Amino acid sequence: MLRFINNHPEILILIIIAVIFLLQLYMYFQKAKQLNGVPDVKSYLASHPKCKTGHGICCYVCGSKSISLYKIDRLGKRTNLHLCKHCNTKLYQTDAGIL
Ligand SMILES: [Zn+2]
Repeated sequence: MLRFINNHPEILILIIIAVIFLLQLYMYFQKAKQLNGVPDVKSYLASHPKCKTGHGICCYVCGSKSISLYKIDRLGKRTNLHLCKHCNTKLYQTDAGIL
């Protein structure tokens, strides 16, 4: 095996490229899993109309207005995941544009 790679160094480069590609693919699906089932802000407010307050949006579980933002970058696109700081519920996602 080692002699084969020594005789054909291009095989090693192809293996490295394949490993990097598979790691990127794995990371893409891990990030996609974090956003799976999380509505956009319009759907969130349609489902929970009481969560739209005069001072912003609140959590539908605990009513907290303290919301943190978690940036998720995938394939050159950024999505913000909004989480409740008190109960850590995933509330909604917003599109933050192209990187
Ligand atoms: Zn909450």
